Amino acid sequence: MEVLYNSTRNNKIQVKASEAILKGLSDDSGLFVPDHIPALPKSLKELSGMTYQEVAYEIMSLYLTDFTEEELKSCIANAYDSKFDTAEIAPLVQADGVYFLELFHGATIAFKDMALSILPHLMIASARKNKVKNEIVILTATSGDTGKAALAGFAGVEGTRIIVFYPKSGVSPIQERQMVTQKGENTYVVGIHGNFDDAQSGVKRLFADKELAERMDRQGYQFSSANSINIGRLVPQIVYYVYAYGKLLADGKIGEGDKINVVVPTGNFGNILAAFYAKNMGLPINKLICASNDNKVLYDFFRTGVYDKNREFVLTSSPSMDILISSNLERLVYRIAGDDPEKNRDYMNALGGAGKYEITQEMREKLTDFYGGFASEEEAAQTIRAIQKESGYIIDTHTAVAACVYHKYAEETGDKTPAVIASTASPYKFTRSVMKAIDEKYDAMGDFDLVDELSSLSKVAVPRAIEEIRSAPVVHDHVCEKDEMKQAVETFLGL
Ligand SMILES: *Cc1c(COP(=O)(O)O)cnc(C)c1O
Repeated sequence: MEVLYNSTRNNKIQVKASEAILKGLSDDSGLFVPDHIPALPKSLKELSGMTYQEVAYEIMSLYLTDFTEEELKSCIANAYDSKFDTAEIAPLVQADGVYFLELFHGATIAFKDMALSILPHLMIASARKNKVKNEIVILTATSGDTGKAALAGFAGVEGTRIIVFYPKSGVSPIQERQMVTQKGENTYVVGIHGNFDDAQSGVKRLFADKELAERMDRQGYQFSSANSINIGRLVPQIVYYVYAYGKLLADGKIGEGDKINVVVPTGNFGNILAAFYAKNMGLPINKLICASNDNKVLYDFFRTGVYDKNREFVLTSSPSMDILISSNLERLVYRIAGDDPEKNRDYMNALGGAGKYEITQEMREKLTDFYGGFASEEEAAQTIRAIQKESGYIIDTHTAVAACVYHKYAEETGDKTPAVIASTASPYKFTRSVMKAIDEKYDAMGDFDLVDELSSLSKVAVPRAIEEIRSAPVVHDHVCEKDEMKQAVETFLGL
């Protein structure tokens, strides 16, 4: 059955999957949502016997219904290949009484690779399908990980260019180095004096700039988005939840139909929304545990029904979660509003204006699938330290927020349902914070000495992504103010 995509702000806007992927955002600034959530195509038992690529095809073909089997299989084969350092693609590691779903075995060692290794292929296939003649300009705001994963995915891809804006002082040293050493004539990286929300708001303004769009079209360009609002990112993320369940089943850790809890360190609400979709497809998920850091706007939302971004933006050691406007939450709000675009639009207008909104009691009652929690900097560091001490397993700062919140949840509720924690980054991406959490003494060491120290402590080889940047030259040194992003785009495209 065909799945079409509606705007969360206007049900009359309805496009095919390939069009939604090309556009990223709807013209009315709404997000594209599937008009219905398809059911799992096979029994859990059957799915549990499949490779990652096979599960990917089963799930994605249900959503991307205007792609042919051949197109989709080719996208999948080109994405989930030897760029990943394990044939399992997303291995499960048992430690600390839970299962860590390691989503960081791709090219840039963060979970963004799970979707961004396939998005460029989906985008090119979509462009062909829709007879697009313009070059596609990917415009992206990043809190650190999306930027590099998108750059790696799109670098050298014919018919595309990519521009990445990141908060100059809001990413880890390794994250920044990964981005500014990115090769490829079609790549452009700019640091802005501002935080992630400034970068994201700036990008949204550029997308909505009709005059700019017309000028670009005349010169043979059009924007698209690699941000997590693109359904071409959301759909591939559903895959690993189904795959993880299958793994647990195949390994005899659970029985068919047994429920699991899923814990997700959350920023823009993309990853956990994919888990929500998986649950709605029929995957036996009990609770969706949404973990925040000190920027705990989502925790407050789940607790009170009020979303309020008016608060201090805190820079933490889990920078990819330093977000006060979780864009993908709009898709959930639309859903619990009964797929009502008017109601959703009112909330989003309130968010754009006063910076807050309060959902109704009726809507709150539809949030029982979710549990919101948060971990402070000290609690997250303590979690890294404790797990390392107990089991020798070393997790990154984002995963630590999730592990900590999970412990709080288990203590509060006594719920013993097996838990899968989305492990969203390699500890090598946040080496300094991770090593400091284990022992303060490490803070005196240099970045790459710490990398070697982490390797000897964890007995995990230094990933290729880190080896590559040790000696790579810096090729991007552009910095601008937050209100100069438009000029930066014009400069790169020669407009
Ligand atoms: C992006 C990111 C997150 C947050 O994911 P969302 O889909 O934005 O909620 C968490 N951890 C890491 C390491 C990330 O890169």
